[in-house]
Amino acid sequence: MSPSTRIRPANSVAERHDVHLQRLSRRSLLRAAAAAVPAAGVASLGSALLPVSPVRAQQAAPAAPDITTSDLGGLVLLQGAGCNVVAMPGRDGALMIDGGLAANAAALLGAVYGATGNDRIHTLINTHWHAEQTGANVAVGRAGGVIFAHEKTRMYLANATYSAAGRREPLPEAARPKETTRGDGTLEFAGSRIDYGYLPQAHTDGDLYVHFPQANVLHAGGVVSAERWPLLDYRNGAWFGGRVRALEWLAELADADTRVVPAHGRPITGSDIARHRDIYLELFETMIGYMNMGFGPEDVVERNPLAPFEAEFGDPSAFLDGAYRSMLIAYVPD
Ligand SMILES: [Zn+2]
Repeated sequence: MSPSTRIRPANSVAERHDVHLQRLSRRSLLRAAAAAVPAAGVASLGSALLPVSPVRAQQAAPAAPDITTSDLGGLVLLQGAGCNVVAMPGRDGALMIDGGLAANAAALLGAVYGATGNDRIHTLINTHWHAEQTGANVAVGRAGGVIFAHEKTRMYLANATYSAAGRREPLPEAARPKETTRGDGTLEFAGSRIDYGYLPQAHTDGDLYVHFPQANVLHAGGVVSAERWPLLDYRNGAWFGGRVRALEWLAELADADTRVVPAHGRPITGSDIARHRDIYLELFETMIGYMNMGFGPEDVVERNPLAPFEAEFGDPSAFLDGAYRSMLIAYVPD
């Protein structure tokens, strides 16, 4: 029997249906108090990603970043603070998905206020715990904003972590998520429904996606990578099979025109997600074969099954090494 048949991630219609039912049954309702308000400072609702205005950092800090804003159909995409940030205006403060690097937090918050017309963050969602996503937690938490994340993200932020970026100290108490989830759910913000869900082991092991059905926007955090090979934080629970499963789920959640916001780089579409799923699924099966041939990570990098995609995503060596190591941790081949 082909081992790939046995351990291939769930992708039959029946399996997907079961996953969907589980997600629905686990759905809980979390309401954030905020009523609909017009999006001050945001361009009219448009389907195209049109740059609205470059917002220059208002702080006097050295090397302040240039943060650009783009309209995402009533939401705002902010780029330049260390990761892609999505913001939405609310009655009692803005909603913000991810927060850039700590050095850029003041500039980012100034840009969010300028783009939303709000003067505080009501709710900040961390898609995961990496430093590029959680640099605004201190400022938002100390100002009384609600920080929401997966329970694993809270755990990592409350402890010293070791990753490819080195050792990171715990965040102060006020900067840690106060509201957490272990699964999927829905919240309401400014009259809009927002769905979130857990993508196990896909990039770290506490990744959330955030889906805005009305705007047809999906913030997928580090689980999606648009322009380069992704980081797979296998030292902290990520597994390549988790990434494949996550892309299968996101490809179902998104339609062809859904604008998908990755952690870095340009937004892509639901069609792109389906293509990425196919690339990664084929690679997963190829790697199962390599395991059965006794290959080590260096052999896989040398064989380079991703060579046909180098022009699009760059040198895959680091990604191949991490993805294969994550599989060596997860499986004993037969
Ligand atoms: Zn990350």
